[in-house]
Amino acid sequence: MRILDFFQPLYCIVCQHRIDPQTPRQYICTSCWRLLFPISSDRCCQKCGVPLISENKFCVRCRDQDFSFTFSVSCFSYIGLFPEILHRYKREGSKYIAWFFADILHTSYKLHFLNLPLVAIPSSPQGYKSRGFHPILRIMSILRRKYGVKCYNILQRKKSTEQKLLSYEERLSNLKNKIVLKRNYNFLPPHIVLLDDLFTTGATLQTCSKVLAISGVKRCDVLTIAVV
Ligand SMILES: [Zn+2]
Ligand SMILES: [Zn+2]
Repeated sequence: MRILDFFQPLYCIVCQHRIDPQTPRQYICTSCWRLLFPISSDRCCQKCGVPLISENKFCVRCRDQDFSFTFSVSCFSYIGLFPEILHRYKREGSKYIAWFFADILHTSYKLHFLNLPLVAIPSSPQGYKSRGFHPILRIMSILRRKYGVKCYNILQRKKSTEQKLLSYEERLSNLKNKIVLKRNYNFLPPHIVLLDDLFTTGATLQTCSKVLAISGVKRCDVLTIAVV
């Protein structure tokens, strides 16, 4: 047993009720788990990871979208209890929620991206200032320590306008020249996986994958906790 395993909670991270010790699931009780929607289908949009119903290969949003990344996987749909859990994590930085996300991400990572290095999507300076921590880096450090995943924190984001209400195109122009490599690297891995919390429009992921492509990365894939 590793050190981190000693700290796994006895109580549900959502409702605080005691978790039945017989259940194989950690962090979330059975009732709350029923209100989460993990993506397990083999038929997902290859660009954003959303489950497909009748479409082929790409969802309506991505059909005409020319993303620089190749393939995207998400662990949950952004519905049910998920928005509340993510919101709480970003507000409070709960280590238990970070561990829950790390475990969920690692399951998808093993299935789709085994041995590939992860690159963190950088927080905006405003986000870091208001929270005092970097949500993705906190999860990444668990993936590195607990599972030995190779992780890079090589991208930096400069101050830009709040993105929430902007369209995909507006977000792209808002992010123009706002995401850069922290410094010049002599060697970057040829194939990396970008790690972010949410796939919303794909604009931030697109900007990051373009920066990495210009810097010599041949292929970027994407892993997110949830897709909107
Ligand atoms: Zn619960
Ligand atoms: Zn899609």
